[in-house]
Amino acid sequence: MVEFRIQTPERNCTVDITPQVKEAISKAGLKNGAVLVYVPHTTAAVTINEGADPDVQRDIIVNLSKLIPHRGDYHHMEGNSDAHIKSTLVGVESLIPVENSSLVLGTWQKIFFCEFDGPRTRKFNVVAIHGGES
Ligand code: ZN
Repeated sequence: MVEFRIQTPERNCTVDITPQVKEAISKAGLKNGAVLVYVPHTTAAVTINEGADPDVQRDIIVNLSKLIPHRGDYHHMEGNSDAHIKSTLVGVESLIPVENSSLVLGTWQKIFFCEFDGPRTRKFNVVAIHGGES
């Protein structure tokens, strides 16, 4: 497992972590199998989506916040229930196939760390799973 740390710049944002995941594949010497990208936080998440047009990331963040506003009918004292709900909706793990030491991603796909209660220093883990057809 490789652990990475990143600094997120805003309360709600996405950060492209595809380069770090590729680095983890290289460090693990993974040829064929998969990588599990895991976010060990309750107010952050990971997703795979379009990385070509940055407006897609903007639209995801802006409209998630419209669906789940910062202030609302929440009991949680910490004041960040919206972030907990977004984390649960988006999810804290992604499993991506690896073939010939390369991520099997679609043309426009990138892997994004999703921050919902930043800015802060965050962690994510990449686990190499060896196996599968070659
Ligand atoms: Zn909380």
